[in-house]
Amino acid sequence: MSYDPNNIFAKILRGEIPCDRVHENDHALAFRDINPQTPVHVLVIPKGAYADLTDFAANAPADEIEGFVRALGETAQMLGITDGGYRALTNIGEHGLQEVPHFHVHLFGGQPLGRMIKPPGK
Ligand code: 5GP
Repeated sequence: MSYDPNNIFAKILRGEIPCDRVHENDHALAFRDINPQTPVHVLVIPKGAYADLTDFAANAPADEIEGFVRALGETAQMLGITDGGYRALTNIGEHGLQEVPHFHVHLFGGQPLGRMIKPPGK
């Protein structure tokens, strides 16, 4: 997938749209989802322009990958969800129902989360 610089998360990174920031480092930004699905629902995004996990894994330099993964763990710690447990999830492409074409990982927590996958229609 080619990167669309006008996607909503690119606008958040450029400061054109506000966000409820939770954490930030040199390579990543974490902010609350505008439509939370669980009591804690935060999005962690790289500051670089990557469309999805496949793009990020193939093209991000090592320092950006490290910064992003560290931000994931630090954000979970800051949110207080590590003791109870949580879910980190990234949607990719059409089958993954990815809506925003800037790589992001959802952090869900604050309650028991149920099964990971519920097949459509069940
Ligand atoms: P996806 O389906 O791409 O994995 O998830 C995109 C997520 O971005 C959704 O959970 C949606 O609620 C969230 N989202 C969409 N627009 C905005 C926005 O402008 N601000 C914030 N904070 N979250 C957004």
